[in-house]
Amino acid sequence: METIVVDGLALAQEIRKELSEAVGRHVAAGRRAPHLAVVRVGDDPASASYIKGKRRACESIGIESTETHLPEATTPAELDAMLAELNGTRHVDGILVQLPLPRQLDAKRIALAIDPAKDVDGLHPINAGRLLQGTAALVACTPLGIMEILRRYDVPLEGADAVVIGRSDIVGKPVAVLLQQANATVTQCHSRTRDLREHCRRADVIVAAVGVPKLVQRDWVKPGAAVIDVGVSVVDGVLTGDVDTDGVSGIARLVTPHRRGVGPMTITMLLRNTLLAYEQRTRA
Ligand code: NAD
Repeated sequence: METIVVDGLALAQEIRKELSEAVGRHVAAGRRAPHLAVVRVGDDPASASYIKGKRRACESIGIESTETHLPEATTPAELDAMLAELNGTRHVDGILVQLPLPRQLDAKRIALAIDPAKDVDGLHPINAGRLLQGTAALVACTPLGIMEILRRYDVPLEGADAVVIGRSDIVGKPVAVLLQQANATVTQCHSRTRDLREHCRRADVIVAAVGVPKLVQRDWVKPGAAVIDVGVSVVDGVLTGDVDTDGVSGIARLVTPHRRGVGPMTITMLLRNTLLAYEQRTRA
């Protein structure tokens, strides 16, 4: 079987064109542009580069963005105060606090401090609860990007057996909920799962969101399965995913590469969420 290698970048560009047209229509109608506020705490070089990529993507489709850079020693109360200010700023539609954070700051507390209407990462308990009940407005970006890949590559989900490896709040749990809402039968695996390989071998769809290089091997994959590689690890300076992509080639129906796969779609869904938050807040 010839394996389709997903072109996440091309797909992202296609969707960004649609989003850019939508932003253009708002501006042409005399409305202000959507606005994303990004908060960076500390000096993690990877965070700086991720933020640069996100802001560049915003700019490319006409979304305005601003960055607030707080020192490494920022206290929880100081970050809360900054987020309260952004919550109260009318022209800010989306707020994103770049992870990872310095040790004294707790991601769950931060999620609570962001107005759910501006929570473009979909991490506020109100948005997580709405997702569970199927009434979600703002859903975490990586799971949305994964679902968009599956949809646009015509991967059948109705009645399919899906295995999600990983159970984080930002990827594993929400993607499992979305797959179930698309009528897949979902098995959620994690670090305590017994015989992960056996679960994977039965799956029509595998989503690997772990961070263990090449965890998913050739003999874990059922012929014709779709394999989504979310994980990002660096091995000897080289970016590596959770899937042995070469190994599953010829067996899987579809695989996402660890570069130009899920990553560009995650950023694109951030743009989509920012536009959605803007449209809901301005009722445009
Ligand atoms: P996380 O560390 O919060 O969660 C990892 C999950 O993997 C946990 O739920 C844990 O139970 C599970 N796990 C760990 N070891 C395991 C093992 N040996 N077998 C089975 N399960 C195991 O990470 P996260 O935030 O969910 O991200 C997961 C990976 O995806 C990371 O590598 C991250 O860098 C990457 N990521 C990529 C994108 C993207 O856009 N490409 C976005 C978000 C996260």
